[in-house]
Amino acid sequence: MIIDGKATAEQLRAKISAAVSILKTQHDIQPGLAVVLVGEDPASQVYVRNKARQTAEVGMNSFEFRMLRETSQKELLAKVDQLNNDPAVNGILVQLPLPDHIDESAVIAAIAPGKDVDGFHAMNSGKLMNGESGALVPCTPQGCVMLAKQHLGENLSGKNAVVIGRSNIVGKPVAMLLLQESCTVTIAHSRTKNLPELCKTADILVAAVGRPEMVEGSWIKPGATVIDVGINRIESEEGKARLVGDVNYREAAEVAGGITPVPGGVGPMTIACLLRNTLAAACQQNDVDFPFPNSFG
Ligand code: NAP
Repeated sequence: MIIDGKATAEQLRAKISAAVSILKTQHDIQPGLAVVLVGEDPASQVYVRNKARQTAEVGMNSFEFRMLRETSQKELLAKVDQLNNDPAVNGILVQLPLPDHIDESAVIAAIAPGKDVDGFHAMNSGKLMNGESGALVPCTPQGCVMLAKQHLGENLSGKNAVVIGRSNIVGKPVAMLLLQESCTVTIAHSRTKNLPELCKTADILVAAVGRPEMVEGSWIKPGATVIDVGINRIESEEGKARLVGDVNYREAAEVAGGITPVPGGVGPMTIACLLRNTLAAACQQNDVDFPFPNSFG
């Protein structure tokens, strides 16, 4: 089974859009997302453009701030402070990576935790770790778990999950979410021994590595659910650029019970979950119930 992230993201955006209409008509609230881009990194420009478009499409206010590459850390922190204090802004996202002269962790720490829709602030990662309610959870990991549930149903309890990758953005938070779902979770990384054998024990395998097609079909337990987070640009034999995941899709699809394609799997879920977090932040800030029952925290 191909786990269709594009269709799932579309359904999620439709639900968010309906919830935004209700917030507007019943509570006179229009959620707003501010995205700050420092510099001209081409990939970041594409991401920011897509975020702004999809934010507007679900009926939210989209605020975009483009700052020069030479912007100082002090100037960026002043912008974050201004957005923290702007009641029309419910969510703040500072597009990463930042130029080398800016300390990313200082910028993330400056974002008000309640507006940290990327979920990278230590307050939010701490709440996720503690299993406390009210955390804003990183977007890509949320998308991974939603797609796993798409294939396996709501109850993931007792499943063996192996997560390859331990980044703060994907690996660690996805492992925490799977643990919250009562999976038995193993986190693998570049020093892990016998990775193929370990992967073979996984009912749910999440690959978040950044190495094109590293996970081979022979590493996968028959019937497993494979969530491929990797986005790698490679050159095809004809010299054309194409995107592949961290999993060898062709081989894995022969063995897995369900698998996310690249592109069209985890990727589209990330922005949909960002909008979900912005909606959750707007609800929290205005003391309105969050409209989705299965909120992560
Ligand atoms: P990252 O920060 O570079 O982390 C990669 C992780 O993979 C590290 O923990 C690293 O281990 C581990 N690793 C590297 N080589 C390995 C190997 N040979 N065997 C086992 N583990 C290995 O990357 P990231 O930010 O988590 O992103 C991972 C991938 O997901 C990238 O392709 C990225 O483009 C993609 N991504 C996609 C989305 C989306 O929206 N779909 C969002 C974010 C990221 P060590 O810690 O030991 O170095």
